[in-house]
Amino acid sequence: MTTKQPPTRREFLQMSAAASAALALTSCGGAVAAAPAPRAGTPIKSRGYAAFDASGVLKPWEFERRAVGDNDILIDIKYASICHSDIHQLEGDWGPQQYPQIPGHEMVGIVAAVGSKVTRFKVGDRAGVGCMVGSCLECERCTHGEEHYCERGETLFTYGYPDPRAPTGITQGGYANNIVVRDHFAVHIPETIPLEEAAPLLCAGITTYSPIMQANLEIGDKVGVAGIGGLGHLAVKLAASKGAEVYAFTTSPDKVKDILAFGAKEVIVVDDLQKLRAHKGRLDYLINTIPVQYDVAAYASVVKPHGFYTQVGMAEAFSLNVSTIGLSLSRVNFNVALIGGIPETQEVMHYCADASVRPTTQLIQASEISDAWVKVKNKQARYRYVIDAATF
Ligand SMILES: [Zn+2]
Ligand SMILES: [Zn+2]
Repeated sequence: MTTKQPPTRREFLQMSAAASAALALTSCGGAVAAAPAPRAGTPIKSRGYAAFDASGVLKPWEFERRAVGDNDILIDIKYASICHSDIHQLEGDWGPQQYPQIPGHEMVGIVAAVGSKVTRFKVGDRAGVGCMVGSCLECERCTHGEEHYCERGETLFTYGYPDPRAPTGITQGGYANNIVVRDHFAVHIPETIPLEEAAPLLCAGITTYSPIMQANLEIGDKVGVAGIGGLGHLAVKLAASKGAEVYAFTTSPDKVKDILAFGAKEVIVVDDLQKLRAHKGRLDYLINTIPVQYDVAAYASVVKPHGFYTQVGMAEAFSLNVSTIGLSLSRVNFNVALIGGIPETQEVMHYCADASVRPTTQLIQASEISDAWVKVKNKQARYRYVIDAATF
């Protein structure tokens, strides 16, 4: 296995940005005039399920989103899916929150209105929004497809972040019947992916796809995936689709059959960390999606010396305790990844469409969200809950 250097990475993103732009133009018919926003200047009425405190109980809430601006689109959301991050943030694990707050950063739907300067979308298009809804769009990072690393620090995450344009003062997420978003931060959904299966690709998909693609895997490379929930089950499917030999590490014995069906060569049930010893130094690459405190050094031991280890998924207080002596014994290259840029988010949609990679989902109604959150925390999700937005 080799790793790519930054210039190669940049070229890759530039190419995918160009490809995405071309696809967008094609699907818009090239010269379709943007439909005027029907309620120009008027805030958009929205309803969804919000958290009103850190209890983890969500209730119906009606609120307003900003009016559709010249560069914005209005999406009628059809499906939104549940990410463990929604729970961490709204329950205060990552710091105090402003309430009411609508979580959700995996949403798909149909474009209902476009601003006067929008050319990438037209009314009726299928569109999705992921983890971010704004950035400066001018700095080196933003203009090279890495808006999540905006050099000016203006990356605006999809819910709970201060936004002076928002009537509620903060961004409000996707557990709702609609969203207003700058066109740049929406992606097209290929017709070959059912909308409910597209939603989880917008966080879980891109968050695992980006590091797996950067790992530049070769056929037969041994890839470990630890934590087989929403992110992990997609990581197994994506790594297998790249021809890797996938070793899955889970604490849930009842997931073994599913995980083998996802394409794993072997599933290791880690009911005791000693189980990892049998796999010492075995893997070329490990992606770990465990979103709570765990023994990083123990998992690092399964990677070959000088191999690579990517953490995705964030534990409480955005912190992981690491034994430096433990990690030094493995001499792995440890990094933590954060979602992916917009061109790459568009790319994961097309990749999954072409490679027939689909999340495994369970459709629920809005009234079931609070129960679903408990099940996610108890590792009972199989594997991504998708909310039917018609029930908001
Ligand atoms: Zn997420
Ligand atoms: Zn920027």
